[in-house]
Amino acid sequence: MINDSSELYGRQISLSELSPELKQLPNISIRPAINKTGRLSCNRCGSKLKTRDAQLPNKHFYCYVCIQMQRMDTLNPLVTLPEPNLFPPNEQPLSWQGKLTNLQEKCATQVVEIFKKRQRHLLWAVTGAGKTEMLFKGIAYALSHGLRIGIASPRVDVCIELFPRIQAAFDQTSIVLLHGKSTQSYKYCQITICTTHQLLRFYHAFDVLVIDEVDVFPFSGNPMLHFAVQNAIKRNGAMLFLTATPDRQLLNQVQRKTLSISYLPIRYHGHLLPEITIIKTRRLDQAIRQGQLPPKISEAIFKLINEKQRFLLFVPRIIDLKLVRIAIKCAGIVAKYETVFSADPDRIEKVAKMRHRQLDFLITTTILERGVTFPGIDVIVLKADDEIFSAAALVQIAGRVGRNSDRPKGRVLFYCETRTANIKSCDRQIKRMNQRARQL
Ligand SMILES: [Zn+2]
Repeated sequence: MINDSSELYGRQISLSELSPELKQLPNISIRPAINKTGRLSCNRCGSKLKTRDAQLPNKHFYCYVCIQMQRMDTLNPLVTLPEPNLFPPNEQPLSWQGKLTNLQEKCATQVVEIFKKRQRHLLWAVTGAGKTEMLFKGIAYALSHGLRIGIASPRVDVCIELFPRIQAAFDQTSIVLLHGKSTQSYKYCQITICTTHQLLRFYHAFDVLVIDEVDVFPFSGNPMLHFAVQNAIKRNGAMLFLTATPDRQLLNQVQRKTLSISYLPIRYHGHLLPEITIIKTRRLDQAIRQGQLPPKISEAIFKLINEKQRFLLFVPRIIDLKLVRIAIKCAGIVAKYETVFSADPDRIEKVAKMRHRQLDFLITTTILERGVTFPGIDVIVLKADDEIFSAAALVQIAGRVGRNSDRPKGRVLFYCETRTANIKSCDRQIKRMNQRARQL
């Protein structure tokens, strides 16, 4: 139950969630949650609805598409209070003391311009370029001008990793972190860090909206989430997309000039991206299905454990987690490790354990392909030729390595039976970026 009117600023909430006092507010704006004129559709998520599937008793309807975020129906309208930008003035909000490289500085200045001019822009920066730090100047500009800022990502892990960094950089600013697994309840803050799903509950809230890792599932190719972004941002808001691996759709927008672009091909520490080693392994799939590791893979793992070199072990599917666990046991490998996947209830804790060096390695699905940084790790990909690994996913996975200036290099081992088009494309993309980096 919502009791405080500030929780409605720039939000769209079902009337049923409001306390009786709030329902009486004079300046509250109300619109139907479900649009019944013309084709049945949901005003929160934009989905067109099938009358038969959306039906409730007494000629009422609900949205079955966004139902996981509280039910939208014809019984209760959507309510909102216009975003008032009621934030305490702060001339110097940036508490971060770090320094940017010249190239980062250039991008950072560009971000400020984009926010000033309220543009739509894509910042294409290689993995480990220091994207977050490049935002600080722009965020500081927005905060000092009383603007409301949203930073959203399709991936919950990315949000969880971003939150403490943004908090440390702007220690006087109110910041809220929102995602499906969070226990923190909503409050009105100048910075909102959230999953793209959470944007469904915002309405013309943000003067500045940053979407990090924009090319990834579930955002990429998801009309509902694109609709949510359009609704969450103010009509004249600035929009910044960030990624190391833009998809076709984004590049098309760049081509049509509806999106401006800047490019950063070099990591913050100035070292090149680690290139991948492709190791063809016969009957790899069969071995894993039988719970075994081909000798060259178990030897590689033994070597890493002996060197005390921590690593991520990527597998294509959830079912492989169990099989690889068995295979590791069978091979006589003794080490501290966990398996993790997207719906794993202990996922956040396991990632934290890896971060705190309590594990030698993590066996993971593509869920940890991006947004997560473990300093000084290596990476192994088993069955890199599985179709689940897109070229972008492989580039991101390789990008987990060498992110720290203490150990800017590292191993990226792709085990596969065939060199697929995606593997080749990943290899090409990394080499091309390194070529561009060398030219700088
Ligand atoms: Zn809906």
